[in-house]
Amino acid sequence: MAKGKLIVFSAPSGTGKTTIVRKLMEVERLKLKFSVSATNRPIRANELHGRDYFYFTTEEFNAKVAADEFLEWEEVYPGRFYGTLKSEVENCINQEFNMAFDIDVAGGFDIKKQYGKQALLIFIKPPSVEELAKRLRNRGTDSDTDIETRLAKAERELSFADRYDVVVVNDALDVAVAEIQTIIDKFLTQE
Ligand code: 5GP
Repeated sequence: MAKGKLIVFSAPSGTGKTTIVRKLMEVERLKLKFSVSATNRPIRANELHGRDYFYFTTEEFNAKVAADEFLEWEEVYPGRFYGTLKSEVENCINQEFNMAFDIDVAGGFDIKKQYGKQALLIFIKPPSVEELAKRLRNRGTDSDTDIETRLAKAERELSFADRYDVVVVNDALDVAVAEIQTIIDKFLTQE
């Protein structure tokens, strides 16, 4: 039986990746399911347990690491852990759904190592780092210290962009979404 494919989206925080992924999830022919990650970071006001993330305490997260329940996991920010649960992925791809991952570059490389040609890594770039800083401040969900940490990580992540399969700049949202749809359509028809 054919299995679903894995499509990884990585981008510096504030690039608009979440919005892009949500729009793509609405395109029925792509048969995309969102891979809900686990994290120990606090839940934000606009988020839901089981939709955006599975929120765990650090102890619970560590217990899952010890029980080998993660396909990959990373300490994305100091003391903040994020991971993809094996159970989320295998069920979906066995049912021939394609999975969309919103994970950092280290996680993306991990997925590629395990799934090879069955996985596509898409990097979404902001038009510039200045624009990114502006978007993060306007979003109003993160403290000043968090914004600084996120910008520092953004610079690091941008340096890995050219190791992804494709890079898309999110300057105008609809244009970026259309471009990514074309890329995914092509990937899904490949052997
Ligand atoms: P946020 O706290 O803004 O939701 O996410 C922070 C970062 O963690 C984002 O760059 C996101 O892509 C990454 N991330 C979310 N889930 C996972 C995961 O399961 N694994 C890895 N490696 N990174 C993740």
